[in-house]
Amino acid sequence: MKAEVVSMTTEKPDMEAIRRGGEILKNGGLVAFPTETVYGLGGNALDSQASMKIYAAKGRPSDNPLIVHIARMDALAPIVKEIPPKAKLLAEKYWPGPLTMILPKAEIVPPETTGGLDSVAVRFPSDRIAQELILAAGGYVAAPSANTSGRPSPTTAQHVEEDLGGAIDMIIDGGQVGIGLESTIVDFTEEIPVVLRPGYISLEMLQELLGDVKMDKGLLITDSSVRPKAPGMKYRHYAPRADLAIVEGETESVIRKITALVKAAEAEGKKVGIIATDETMGRYPKTCIIKSIGSREEEETIAHHLYEVLREFDEGDAKVIYSEAFYTPRMGQAIMNRLLKAAGHKRIQAE
Ligand code: AMP
Ligand code: MG
Repeated sequence: MKAEVVSMTTEKPDMEAIRRGGEILKNGGLVAFPTETVYGLGGNALDSQASMKIYAAKGRPSDNPLIVHIARMDALAPIVKEIPPKAKLLAEKYWPGPLTMILPKAEIVPPETTGGLDSVAVRFPSDRIAQELILAAGGYVAAPSANTSGRPSPTTAQHVEEDLGGAIDMIIDGGQVGIGLESTIVDFTEEIPVVLRPGYISLEMLQELLGDVKMDKGLLITDSSVRPKAPGMKYRHYAPRADLAIVEGETESVIRKITALVKAAEAEGKKVGIIATDETMGRYPKTCIIKSIGSREEEETIAHHLYEVLREFDEGDAKVIYSEAFYTPRMGQAIMNRLLKAAGHKRIQAE
């Protein structure tokens, strides 16, 4: 099977193509589509066969549950047992948007969709193409990121084609996504809401609205003594093919340390890649493959380019990659969560 690729813009969705996409989904097929976070691989969330097809296409372990996407506020109630007041408040503030909520699931959601859990993850994306497709498909679309499991999430339709072009029915190309990192996941199945995955909506923003909100311990402790609660967060994800390590510290020390590491690796005959910023990229040895991830002055650019840069390195011949750390003010948590996972938590301290 070779996926049909249809192009459109978020401002002007091609409603005829979307109607066809909706039919494919209703008939149990798979359609990849843009959202404001990353591209999603959609299947009918209420159809257990469709969910199983998603796992197969991605090569995703079937204990890693899918997020159910909706396109109207009133679509939430039928798929959950209850909506706690704080969840309602959060939905009213941030939906549609890059926010996923975990709630106790209703019977109609098949266990295949939730990886056997009795809770369900739900998100209402803000992208118009995504919304129209979900509505055309009947209202409930399970959609994990549209990448092969383990590879960086796709931020363009070309990334989707590289990974899944031969395994799904349709790809809707809506251009580059807006945010570039997956949604913030908040778990409401416990007394105090817990962030299971950091994203564009930060812990501080959640606390401002909800009061007490915790960060999942499994995200903070990385020695595997505590498992993250979101099953997907335990896997080494987003990994480039080369060996990636993060060099942390004050900017000048980081540049010195990376330069020294480059010399050592090159002495062993290894091609080195560097993930730098607009501000620092000119300061590294020219023998390396140097890529800027964006500007420290605009953290959105860093979030936006992270996965693309990791993918680009897969096409080059770098055997080792050293990256600066990006603990930026608001999205730093989300960016570093992804980058450290990509590096298998390999970090080097620069003095
Ligand atoms: P993706 O769809 O690729 O963005 O990944 C979805 C993430 O949500 C994975 O890390 C899942 O483990 C997590 N997730 C989905 N449903 C649940 C749930 N019911 N409880 C906890 N985590 C979930
Ligand atoms: Mg994913």
